[in-house]
Amino acid sequence: MNSDGVELLRHGAGLLGLEIGEQLPQFARLFALLQEGNARLNLTALKTQEDIVLKHFVDSLTCLRGGYLEGPLTVLDLGTGAGFPTFPLALVKPELHFTSVDSIRKKVDFVRDTAVQLGLEQVTPLVGRAETLGRSADHREHYDRVVVRAVASLPVLAELTLPLLREGGLLVAQKGAISADELNAGRRAAGEVGGKVQVVDPFELPVLGDARTLIVIEKLGRTPSKYPRREGVPTAQPLF
Ligand code: SAM
Repeated sequence: MNSDGVELLRHGAGLLGLEIGEQLPQFARLFALLQEGNARLNLTALKTQEDIVLKHFVDSLTCLRGGYLEGPLTVLDLGTGAGFPTFPLALVKPELHFTSVDSIRKKVDFVRDTAVQLGLEQVTPLVGRAETLGRSADHREHYDRVVVRAVASLPVLAELTLPLLREGGLLVAQKGAISADELNAGRRAAGEVGGKVQVVDPFELPVLGDARTLIVIEKLGRTPSKYPRREGVPTAQPLF
């Protein structure tokens, strides 16, 4: 990352009220590792410095809006891909303990190697599917928070993630613009799996102005044991 990239990161994060100072060398290392990983594994479609800084780093940091990720929380990042939003959040909030899950092994291998290189002991990478983890005693009703970025529609996310949250836990879903239909379906699905949509917070991605929405679903009661349905069903046949 050259000096333009550093300036863009500081500026973008500054617009979110975050000061990136001592973490800059780790962001620069993450940038380099992502470029190397992309050349080998084709991990992400974003390849330019501006895209990586704004659409991966700053975009991931927008999950901190509203203060739902403060304190020593257990956080599951579902569908982490090449480690987003995990890595930017873990660099800025070292008190969060991440379990970063993806169904694709090569992506999780990259996240594991990168976490080691960045010295992020609080990041635990895991190969798995939400449908399986949501039925396993080690993960069901276990986490304080689930974060997701760019994984599925809101009703699908509700079924995949609410089983993983403890009662009182929050799903923090970072999405683009959301239609009224998707939001309504998400509200109904959340109710079916023990949750309630508490926050719909539309905003613009710093610098670029792209539409984003942070949606928070609170888990109010236990999820019925029939959820999540088996692998692939939540996506193929959404609840609503
Ligand atoms: N969150 C990352 C980001 O924002 O760059 C990656 C987004 S990528 C579009 C979606 C990822 O979710 C893919 O890597 C995919 O393998 C993973 N995924 C989708 N459904 C999943 C499921 N049911 N369980 C685990 N991972 C899943």
